Amino acid sequence: MAEHARIARFFAPLAQKEPGSFSLTDDAALLTPPPGQSLVITTDSVIEGIHVLQHATPAQFAQKLLRRNLSDLAAMGAAPWRYTLNLHTPAGLADAWFAAFATTLAGEQEQFGCTLIGGDSTSGPADAPIHTTLTCFGLLEGPALHRSTAQAGEDIYISGTIGDAALGLQLLQHNPQHNDTLTDRYHLPKPRLALGKALHGIATAALDISDGLLADIHQLCAASGVGACIQREAILCSAALQERLEHDPAIWQLVLSGGDDYELCFTAPTALRNHIAALSQQLGLPLTRIGETRAISGVALLDATGALLPLTHLGFEHR
Ligand SMILES: [Mg+2]
Repeated sequence: MAEHARIARFFAPLAQKEPGSFSLTDDAALLTPPPGQSLVITTDSVIEGIHVLQHATPAQFAQKLLRRNLSDLAAMGAAPWRYTLNLHTPAGLADAWFAAFATTLAGEQEQFGCTLIGGDSTSGPADAPIHTTLTCFGLLEGPALHRSTAQAGEDIYISGTIGDAALGLQLLQHNPQHNDTLTDRYHLPKPRLALGKALHGIATAALDISDGLLADIHQLCAASGVGACIQREAILCSAALQERLEHDPAIWQLVLSGGDDYELCFTAPTALRNHIAALSQQLGLPLTRIGETRAISGVALLDATGALLPLTHLGFEHR
């Protein structure tokens, strides 16, 4: 199918809710954000063999692509609104791939409340990996959450459980057919949008954990000009991961430095502990205090006895 026909058939239906998309027939889209709201803009790619497995399904591409972007909006406290899409696909990729990709995106749009407004598609050599990029436009009332605004002496929290996706990926690398809660976490990030929104007035700084827990905490600390002390045993892991961890302590490395968690990490004043416990109840989402910011340099990791763990042995890298 020719590019224009493909856009009209598979992608124009995704643009119907935004008149400024002109049903993807114009050269550009026209957006007017609702009065009093700021646009929050983020972009992320999903490349075959890098962010998804080789031969990932169209649904896996669509879900990871949108959700990675939404996780960045969540980290800023913003809500999803509109997005553009760029596809670079190998020549001869079947129309059925585009149909399935668009069908999944339609469901994702519905779930998260965002609408396609434009994009571009190109095709490369038949053996080129599929390369997808999405730029998401979120809406924000009031100030955004930032990485750079934590102060020494605050609590550090993480949402949900850490390490599942990294272990899921490791299982998939051994057996691409492996299918359990861990591989689900790898394929299907859950952007913490409700939490991001609720953190206004609570969190002093926030970011989403996508590159690995310690690497991302390091990013937040470096941006804020503080250090951190993290209690390793306080990090919440799922039952499935905990069970493997007991048999194989080397899995700690995946928990601490594996990627793809898409949970939020945030700092908050110690006076808000009860408030944050109530928020956790309200959202039905664990919010776990794993350490504190300090007026030191870098990130220190402590074991259950309070002994300092050497980060270089845990795969921690400054990125
Ligand atoms: Mg991010």
